[in-house]
Amino acid sequence: MAALLLILLASCAPAAPPATPFRGERAYADLRRILAFGPREPGSPASASARAYIRREVEAAGLTLQELPFVAQTPPELQRGPVSMINLVAEVKGTQPGIILLSNHYDTKYFPDFKFLGANDGGSTTAWMIEMARALGPTREGRTVWLCWFDGEEAYGEWSEFDSLYGSRQMVAWLKETGKFTEIHTAINVDMIGDCKLDVIKDSEAPAWLLGAVTGAATDLRSKMFSPLEQTIEDDHLPFRRAGIPALNLIDFRYGGGQIEHNTNWHTSRDTIDLVCAESLQAVGEVLLKALPRIDAALDRGDPGRE
Ligand SMILES: [Zn+2]
Repeated sequence: MAALLLILLASCAPAAPPATPFRGERAYADLRRILAFGPREPGSPASASARAYIRREVEAAGLTLQELPFVAQTPPELQRGPVSMINLVAEVKGTQPGIILLSNHYDTKYFPDFKFLGANDGGSTTAWMIEMARALGPTREGRTVWLCWFDGEEAYGEWSEFDSLYGSRQMVAWLKETGKFTEIHTAINVDMIGDCKLDVIKDSEAPAWLLGAVTGAATDLRSKMFSPLEQTIEDDHLPFRRAGIPALNLIDFRYGGGQIEHNTNWHTSRDTIDLVCAESLQAVGEVLLKALPRIDAALDRGDPGRE
């Protein structure tokens, strides 16, 4: 009788929330440590400290981390000359051929008149990617995942084709030089995903199957990470898309403000940690972890492909 009662009680117990290996609180703690280094302009001591921190945490999670240094040529009119930059790549070794490239940028935009910490713009995804390394671990079923931290996403002057996206443009060039280009099956970039009021835009120029894999995962999780807004923003996914790799950008480009004047905290001294929430980092982490096997499955079916 006692045993029957126990069984009955067990069957009536409320279902536990699904376990997730992605811990937004831990990513938030990483963010706090990274911001304490100061502005992370390419070549700065804070940039080097951020890299050392990423390396320590990623290697502690059992992944290998590669540094890819390069010299960025800035446009002559800026009179800045060549700038030394470093991209980072951590590898989650898969069981089947091909690579899913997941990227973000860790640099901050240089402002001569104030200290720009970029808690959301650069910081949030840098920390988020460290937690992704922990959540995924050194191996996975499916394709290999590369976690990339790009340097030099930001423009020094006015945003232009030649003054922006230094790290991701270099990554595509490096992939072509080393013959690894054909191994990249798809690329997903994340940017500014820490806003407490999360509104990730649906990238209107992404392949439908790729965007669908991520929005489908969000729907299944009843996640509110996506805004109904469809738009495309120039970001680190662009060099991959231009090279013909199916690419998706996940960005919340409504960082403060209302319907008319929006994004009022972007590239301002207000981009600080108090506007970033662990819950937002967690939401995007959970959705991406659920989306990865769907992306593998879509690639296996062979319906997607290079343009
Ligand atoms: Zn920015």
